[in-house]
Amino acid sequence: MSFEQVRTRALQYLPADSLGVIESAYQFAAAAHDGQLRKTGEPYLVHPVAAALILTDLRLDQDAIAAAILHDVPEDCGVPIAEIDKRFGSEVASLVDGVTKLSKVTSLAHDGRNPTKAGDELVQAENLRKMLIAMAEDMRVVLIKLADRLHNMRTLAALKPERQRAIAQETMEIFAPLAGRLGIYQIKSELEDLAFSYLEPERYREIAQLVAQRRAAGEQYISRVIREVRRTLDEAKIVAEVSGRPKHLYSVSRKMRAYQTIGREFADISDLLAIRILVETMPECYHALGVVHSLWHPVPGQFDDYIANPKQSMYQSLHTAVIALDGQRIEIQIRSHEMHHVAEYGIAAHWRYKEGGRKADIQFEERIAWLRQLLEWQKEVRGAQEFVDSVKTDLFRDQVFVYTPRGEIKDLPAGATPLDFAYRIHTDLGHRCVGAKVNGRLVSLNTALKNGDIIEIIAPKSGRSPSRDWLNPNLGYVKTSHAREKIRQWFRRQERAENLDRGRELLEKELKRLALHKPFDEIAKLFKYDKLEDFFVAIGIGEVNPGTIAVKVATAEPRPITLPLTPKRSGAVPIGAVAVMGVGDLVTTMARCCSPVPGDVIVGYITRFRGVTVHRGDCPNVRNPAEPERIVRVDWMLGKDQVFPVRIRLDAWDRVGLLNDVTAVIAAEGINMNAVQTESSMDGTATISMKLETSGIEQLSRVLGKLEAVKGVLGVSREAG
Ligand code: MN
Repeated sequence: MSFEQVRTRALQYLPADSLGVIESAYQFAAAAHDGQLRKTGEPYLVHPVAAALILTDLRLDQDAIAAAILHDVPEDCGVPIAEIDKRFGSEVASLVDGVTKLSKVTSLAHDGRNPTKAGDELVQAENLRKMLIAMAEDMRVVLIKLADRLHNMRTLAALKPERQRAIAQETMEIFAPLAGRLGIYQIKSELEDLAFSYLEPERYREIAQLVAQRRAAGEQYISRVIREVRRTLDEAKIVAEVSGRPKHLYSVSRKMRAYQTIGREFADISDLLAIRILVETMPECYHALGVVHSLWHPVPGQFDDYIANPKQSMYQSLHTAVIALDGQRIEIQIRSHEMHHVAEYGIAAHWRYKEGGRKADIQFEERIAWLRQLLEWQKEVRGAQEFVDSVKTDLFRDQVFVYTPRGEIKDLPAGATPLDFAYRIHTDLGHRCVGAKVNGRLVSLNTALKNGDIIEIIAPKSGRSPSRDWLNPNLGYVKTSHAREKIRQWFRRQERAENLDRGRELLEKELKRLALHKPFDEIAKLFKYDKLEDFFVAIGIGEVNPGTIAVKVATAEPRPITLPLTPKRSGAVPIGAVAVMGVGDLVTTMARCCSPVPGDVIVGYITRFRGVTVHRGDCPNVRNPAEPERIVRVDWMLGKDQVFPVRIRLDAWDRVGLLNDVTAVIAAEGINMNAVQTESSMDGTATISMKLETSGIEQLSRVLGKLEAVKGVLGVSREAG
């Protein structure tokens, strides 16, 4: 670890003339710390230089790097801040000052004066408060503090055991979650693994051993998988980096605990076999996903789209699991290089963009708002303990803690529902569940639970069974894979004939609803089923979710690069929603004949006066092109808040309040409805036609599913147009 490395790495992203301040900070710190040693026996200077090196990973600016090198100078060498200010400017001085203030509070907790429990809490609360204020003022202070802590953790072995434990504990409780909250997963995982090794040394060794054994066996296998994925992506002409994914011991440990509570073994932890695919652009992520899913069977219920729905830490990626070579299950993450950078460095990556004036980042602003809000709260809470508790709960926002009526505490992932809770208590209770009370009030089974909720499950002794709706992710009944698996098991045990019929029905309904024209057996092939009957059964027992069919058909289909004719009419379009391949800024217009929405396969047709008109790939108006060269490849490129019109038809038994219920569902999805027509017929049914502004085929599929569940509704479909 030398200053040379800091120089080299900084030069990779900073202009050469910005290195001056870093170099003179180094000279100054070297002189100031001269003769001082760390507990490890090394020269003290090693520590601030190591912290600076960590910050070059985050690509922080020269002032922050200089401040990291100087961070212990005021404290350990008695150099006043004014001196730093004079030599390095006010920017560096205020960063060093911020870090010093944080260190002062931190060191109080561990000065061996053996403070009382209450005293400890007070110090911790004060710590947190300072940290949050510092963060709200200048994020870099906290990033320097994290780098400082990370290097101290790496060299913790030199301290006495009590200090090791105390520092490890604080790291696990405050610094690791904080890094996670800021989205800096690289630092978070390393802090966790280090703290874990000091807090539970035996368990740490045990898991390290298990993982090492497993890895030795898995290495060859993974490289075969990687070769196969590379070859297939090559064929699809996608430029990608494919690699195995390192696994962090602490997260394995946590997963094992979670598995043990549901009675499974280490061998079941499949994500030890994991790979990552990095591509250039966001659309390529979906393209690569389609390629991987047509190579191997996806494991149902394991697909997560964090691109469309980024995590709060701004993390974006596609997650899926497939049954790969030799029937082994592997996990796959797909993301662009930029998403990957954000995944590793979180807020630091965004902060940089903002500083560079590259983009005003709304999510970044939201995060700062979160900090400010936290500071507001801490003014309101009375005791120190309360404050610590409230901050901790907020840092661990991925979990909710709820209670049984008898006061037993259960933890569930954020977003879990009463149904998840029921299955968590007992499989049979889940199967029989017909309703739930949260804090004494009746709620619907797909309500998201909140911290501290008391949940009572209503379940008749017999005569009830799970509903297939519970498996439809669009309806949001279950969040945990545990509950989903139990429900699936129940259906698997039902008659094959019954499952087959239900599966066929569900598929027919979904295709009709979305106005997708594709033969059943072709769709079955997309899902890797040779026999259509098996495919129906798979849908019937919830192994294939009909809600995924739209996306599958849209992503797996080779893009049509043929066939146009002038469209009849075209409507106004959201600008920039569609990217035309290989052509610059062209005006694009959505064809009104087929009203494509994002997710549909589309082609562009170059018109004489109106730029490019965008049609659905299967639109009859773009068959048989008179001038095939006018056809261009186009792709969806969505910004925020873009919507697309689509016509919907709904048939239902007519009743008072029908239209009300329908519009409520649509409003709840945040969808605009701009033309509604209701027609009642003699046979007691009604037809509602409406125009919705949807963000794409996924939302459409979801809202159609919800409309279907409205009382009295016989069918809902997208009008073919
Ligand atoms: Mn330090």
